Amino acid sequence: MKPEEFRTAAHALVDWIADYRERIPDLPVQSRVKPGDVAGMLPTSAPVAPESFDAVLRDLDRVVVPGITQVQHPSFFGWFPSNATLSSVLGDFATAGLGALGITWQSAPSLTEVEEVVVGWLRELTGLPESWRGVIQDTASTACLVALLAARERATDYSETRGGLQAEPAPMTVYTTEYAHSSIPKAVALAGFGADNLRVVATDPWTRAMLPEALAEAVAADVADGRRPVAVVVNVGTTGTTAVDPLAEIVPIAREHGMWVHVDAAMAGSALLLPEMRGLVAGLDGADSLTWNPHKWMGAVLDCSLMYVADPQHLVRVMATGPSYLRSAVDGEVTQFKDWGIPLGRRFRALKLWFQLRLDGVEAIQARLRRDLANARALAEQVEAAEGWRVLAPVALQTVVLRHEPRAWVAPDGDVLDGAALDAHTLAWVDEVNSSGAAFITPAKLDGRWSVRVSIGAEPTTSDDVAALWHLLRTTAERD
Ligand code: PLP
Repeated sequence: MKPEEFRTAAHALVDWIADYRERIPDLPVQSRVKPGDVAGMLPTSAPVAPESFDAVLRDLDRVVVPGITQVQHPSFFGWFPSNATLSSVLGDFATAGLGALGITWQSAPSLTEVEEVVVGWLRELTGLPESWRGVIQDTASTACLVALLAARERATDYSETRGGLQAEPAPMTVYTTEYAHSSIPKAVALAGFGADNLRVVATDPWTRAMLPEALAEAVAADVADGRRPVAVVVNVGTTGTTAVDPLAEIVPIAREHGMWVHVDAAMAGSALLLPEMRGLVAGLDGADSLTWNPHKWMGAVLDCSLMYVADPQHLVRVMATGPSYLRSAVDGEVTQFKDWGIPLGRRFRALKLWFQLRLDGVEAIQARLRRDLANARALAEQVEAAEGWRVLAPVALQTVVLRHEPRAWVAPDGDVLDGAALDAHTLAWVDEVNSSGAAFITPAKLDGRWSVRVSIGAEPTTSDDVAALWHLLRTTAERD
């Protein structure tokens, strides 16, 4: 495609995207396609001759849009927000159009330096320690894996340069809670610790936050048994209920044993843009790394996960490679982000943050986050006040975990009389809400029983949308 042809097609695509965004409120939130429907609409082999751009655009409407659960919809209350603000979309366009190759500083100096500056802005905006440095990883899952690899190498004095884990004298243990995101046990497994060496530390039954004394006991028991505690993953905003582990009380226990403290704030990190929410990570000065995802609530289009570390030199020592073909005259003077994580080649991801921050401004982002926090609190109050409904966890952020509990199956004091019937009821009414296309919520197991997560924070969601959702939940669940 020549630049002139691109110009025409790209204008049409931008118009298409703007029109699509405008009509999202009229689309069903949950995709209605069945498995195989989308693939069945595609030819079985690739086109040999070029097709018109119009034909491709038509297929965006015909094939692609129906196959998307509309997470940019004002009535999307599922999983966690996955906002793709149009300002950040413009940045992503620019990234694709530039087609820069990020493999060394020399391959695209602006890619490295815009990333360093923007990640620094966000460090300051979220109140993280001034001495920490950051990098953009693709996802929080990758960031946790990188953190645990760094933890492993610090504990073993760089075993990777010798016999690796296989030559270590004692098993190494990692600590988190049962409410940690599934990417945490996955990272523990991938970093070679083994599931047997992951300790699930006890939590408070209401807040679902790690109990520091239980951590201290688990660590002491492992030390007594000849194992080496090396890392604790502190959850600030769990996926299930946005529970917040008490970092300030965990850090001293970890420090006593030289353990790495990684903070998974994938969702909650956006809240740190609000000075009044910084208490979520009180004690962070004593931690080693923190990750959060601007690609969730803040609204940088996927994928964009910020990872900050207290000791970048250590991270670089663990991750660095130095093949001769990547040498340049400025080595040693510049940041080489290839040495801050797993991939060599990187996209110019910083542009979507740069565009979003410049075009929307921090104040507007903060106002939106405050709006969502207030909407969540207001919903929780209404749920608590409604007969037969219960809020199942503290509302620490913008997610309300609730359940409709008919008296036939749940006693007024919360005692579940018939768990199977309650679970079937919950799944049935949630399915009805989601199939209606009017809104989307997520059923999730909490302490063995189905609950419902209402995660507020899609960019266009107003208090009216939340009120409409609450009405829909009541009419659907109470009728069933
Ligand atoms: N940690 C928490 C608390 C999450 O909620 C999620 C995803 O929702 C992740 C980690 C994983 O994020 P990612 O999709 O960026 O790997």
